[in-house]
Amino acid sequence: MDRGILDPEDWELQRKVAHQAVDDLLNYLRDISTSPVWTEPKDDLLTLAAHDLPEYGRPLDEVYSDIREKILPYRMGNIHPRFWGWVIGSGTFSGALGDFISSTMNSNNAGGNHAGNHIENQVINWAKQLLKYPEYASGLLTTGGSMANIIALTIARNEKCGYDIRELGVQGKIIIYGSTETHSSVQKAAELLGLGNKNYHQIGVNENFEIDCDELESTIERDLKEGCRPVCIVGNVGTVNTGAIDDIVRLRAIADNYGLWLHVDGAFGAIARISPKYENLATGISLGDSLAFDFHKWLYVNYEIGCVLVKNRSAHIGTFSVTPDYLEHGTRGVHGGIWFSDYGVELSRNFKALKAWVMFQELGASKFRDAVTMNIEQAKYLSSLVKDDPQLELMAPVPMNIVCFRYNGGSGDLDKINREIVLQLHEKGIAVPSYTMINGKYSIRVAITNHRSKNSDFEILVKKVVEIGVHLDKTTQ
Ligand SMILES: *Cc1c(COP(=O)(O)O)cnc(C)c1O
Repeated sequence: MDRGILDPEDWELQRKVAHQAVDDLLNYLRDISTSPVWTEPKDDLLTLAAHDLPEYGRPLDEVYSDIREKILPYRMGNIHPRFWGWVIGSGTFSGALGDFISSTMNSNNAGGNHAGNHIENQVINWAKQLLKYPEYASGLLTTGGSMANIIALTIARNEKCGYDIRELGVQGKIIIYGSTETHSSVQKAAELLGLGNKNYHQIGVNENFEIDCDELESTIERDLKEGCRPVCIVGNVGTVNTGAIDDIVRLRAIADNYGLWLHVDGAFGAIARISPKYENLATGISLGDSLAFDFHKWLYVNYEIGCVLVKNRSAHIGTFSVTPDYLEHGTRGVHGGIWFSDYGVELSRNFKALKAWVMFQELGASKFRDAVTMNIEQAKYLSSLVKDDPQLELMAPVPMNIVCFRYNGGSGDLDKINREIVLQLHEKGIAVPSYTMINGKYSIRVAITNHRSKNSDFEILVKKVVEIGVHLDKTTQ
């Protein structure tokens, strides 16, 4: 049999190992709720991870047994029903299967006439339908919300700066606006785009952590007087700290008044739009000139997959298209078809659409709507448990799927106690919330983008937080 130099000598061994892996991984996911959420990496993994590069290989079954024994036990934990740290999605087995299949096809979605690009185009169109975004918008699947924000802000900068910035580079003070609650990826974008942090103006927020539109307007006025060039406002539909939703209607009016681009960061929050019961939370996403959101957070698709949608297709292509001879788009052969490299930073791109496509085909949109609705109701349930317990304190409003609270037994250093509670929850494998500072106070933060969580999981969380808190109170007095 003909084979490549890197192909297996023994195809049957590969088959056996792959079948074993599928069986193991199905069990791994099926039984996930009975295992600890997180286990600290021990010497077996650390030793393996310190090995030098092998000059000569070994059989795949041996390699796989290292994976099974020393890698699989030390997952991050986000496939477990009690993982609610940061904003991290939970994935499915069918998503993983899609990834495996696309990886085996190993196509490059830079462009060309092949299934990868047709399916990516379809998944982008499905996203527009799901989110009720205009059909004519252009889009690109990205590695995540950060890249989606960077792409959108580049288009905004190029479109609104008033001169040929691709040719001349950044000149003068080009200003973008967000709130103090806006995600750090927007700061990265401001730095990467050559604007500099001094020209990223972060506006204050009200008691609900929504952008202060009056302050925004007066800042734009001041910047104009000083000869700066404002180009873009970033509005939040779901801030990372508390899930706050900016007044996008007002931001649209301000953007129109000053001729600015309005970009909406809806990394997870945009997805509330798919819930028939709670879609009102996210109607603002349609008002922006562009939208960033993730499939890998609140649509539960396996990492990595995000998306950017842009209403002005020619501005989108006008920002990123570079077509040297060797990338010329044709109409025949593999050259034909769609060229996604015209819509973003990267040329070589994987076929990440397939995992989302498999999940939507298998589950239908309705299951996703149910899961998102369930997660919002779980946030309400958790906040009711917190409010009902005199030893717990709710730290911020709960407009969507994020709950910030803390243990407050009435005494002691509450920042220190709550920090210790979070660490013990992790280390004991009970639950993984993360934390944030709310008005300068350390808060336990639970972001629910997990299709495996049940109400009983939140009951366990609350019980354990109080138990650990009471114990800490006693032992530190
Ligand atoms: C997570 C997040 C991002 C960044 O998305 P990644 O997929 O992690 O790159 C941007 N904005 C908000 C509001 C987020 O929650």
